[in-house]
Amino acid sequence: MKRQVRVRFAPSPTGPLHLGGMRTALFNYLFARKNHGDFILRIEDTDQSRYVQGAEEYIIKSLDWCGIKVDEGVREGGSFGPYRQSERKPIYPKYAEKLVDTGHAYYAFDTTEELEARRKEYEARKETFIYDASIRSGMKNSLSLPEEEIQRRLDSDDPYVIRFKIPENIEVSINDLIRGEVVVNTSTLDDKVLFKSDGMPTYHLANVVDDYLMKISHVIRGEEWLPSLPLHVLLYRAFGWENKMPEFAHMPLTLKPDGKGKLSKRDGDLGGFPIFPLNWPDPKTNKISKGYEGYGYFPEAFINIIALLGWNPGTTQEIFSMDDLIRAFSIDKVIKAGSRFDPEKAKWYNQQYLRAKSDRELAMLFQPILRKKGIEADDLTVEKACGLIKERASFVHELWDHAWFIFKAPEEYDPKAVNKSWKEQTPGIMKELYEVLSRITDFTPANTEKVVRKWIEEKDYGVGQVMNAFRLCIVGAAIGPHLFDIIELLGKTETLARIETGLENIKTS
Ligand code: GLU
Repeated sequence: MKRQVRVRFAPSPTGPLHLGGMRTALFNYLFARKNHGDFILRIEDTDQSRYVQGAEEYIIKSLDWCGIKVDEGVREGGSFGPYRQSERKPIYPKYAEKLVDTGHAYYAFDTTEELEARRKEYEARKETFIYDASIRSGMKNSLSLPEEEIQRRLDSDDPYVIRFKIPENIEVSINDLIRGEVVVNTSTLDDKVLFKSDGMPTYHLANVVDDYLMKISHVIRGEEWLPSLPLHVLLYRAFGWENKMPEFAHMPLTLKPDGKGKLSKRDGDLGGFPIFPLNWPDPKTNKISKGYEGYGYFPEAFINIIALLGWNPGTTQEIFSMDDLIRAFSIDKVIKAGSRFDPEKAKWYNQQYLRAKSDRELAMLFQPILRKKGIEADDLTVEKACGLIKERASFVHELWDHAWFIFKAPEEYDPKAVNKSWKEQTPGIMKELYEVLSRITDFTPANTEKVVRKWIEEKDYGVGQVMNAFRLCIVGAAIGPHLFDIIELLGKTETLARIETGLENIKTS
């Protein structure tokens, strides 16, 4: 029988998610949707010392912003809950004890100080201290101590941890869906702590137990968890759950723009690009790290950017909606090698999504920006303005840079443009142009252009000579879209007023 697909995104609330984390969530989600399965959000908060206030909420909001819908989770609930590991605390001890009972794990009473002293001893000999098969018999644990002493320590509530007893010198071979066969000899592994003296399980125990109890069919996670895989497989075996073990897929790292090393928040700060999906107010410093949303990225663009980080559709298609991604996604098209993050390409994606929006949609997004600047403009003008300049912007906030002169008269005139286009005879020509325009009643671009060009021809003026000076009056610089399109939006009165102001204020130096 084919296994019901159930995948989980299992972040630890230790800070904001970054690009790589969001990509893990997305790939899990795509895989679930593609296979008509469930996408579960499990919060792995067993390490209280690394808990960061606000991180869980941030994770949930980020998924919402991206349109990644959780089927079961801390907010949604579900029949495999609770979905926050700290609330599952009572579940884990019996699993740890079960491993002790079956001889797969043991109590270790070594104190932090004792372990530290051992570490130092080894260091002094230029060796590394690894709590493994070769030394466990020399340590204070239930494998080395006499029966009575173990009992005495347990009875007197001596603090202990439970360690996994790594089987000696066997090859563990696992098939990773992205990497193929991974073989590890257990002699390279240490006896990891499964259960801590504070009564909490460690990541390894809680993760495996929960994946089993939540009937997870596939574990899709970052490459940094690959070294934990042999231990997890050994845990499944020790529990006798091997036939219920999920399949594993470890995703490639996201690399810095130059391809040298793992992408970090620092790279974003240095390169001026976001790393987090949403703004993150650091609870310690109160400093806000701007996220993709804050930079003005559309969530659709963000999804597209991260989807193509390490996944290759095998075609030249670059623009994918969420539905397209669900249709096209498959694990075997995930690339093994690390994928370089390209901030310029990220902008390009946003630009593509901006261009694809209708002028009306853009106008609705642009209006709040205009209002903030104290500009009241009617929707139709804003819509037409967006149509004129949308090819020039990558972000909604850039629309202003390309269109401000449609909403506000220039307050200064670019000296370079003035020197180039404002000659001795220009004021006279502009006065004539003023007269020509004031006689026009149909102010559509086609008509104003026809009339103005005809007049230029009759007078035998140079087109550039007239148009550059005209643009200077209207825009204040040699920038902007087709001038006759601009003056249509300004209307006749404003156009004439700007020529008048230009005549008063433009001075050659
Ligand atoms: N809690 C782990 C993390 O923060 C989960 C790793 C896994 O998916 O197994 O990434």
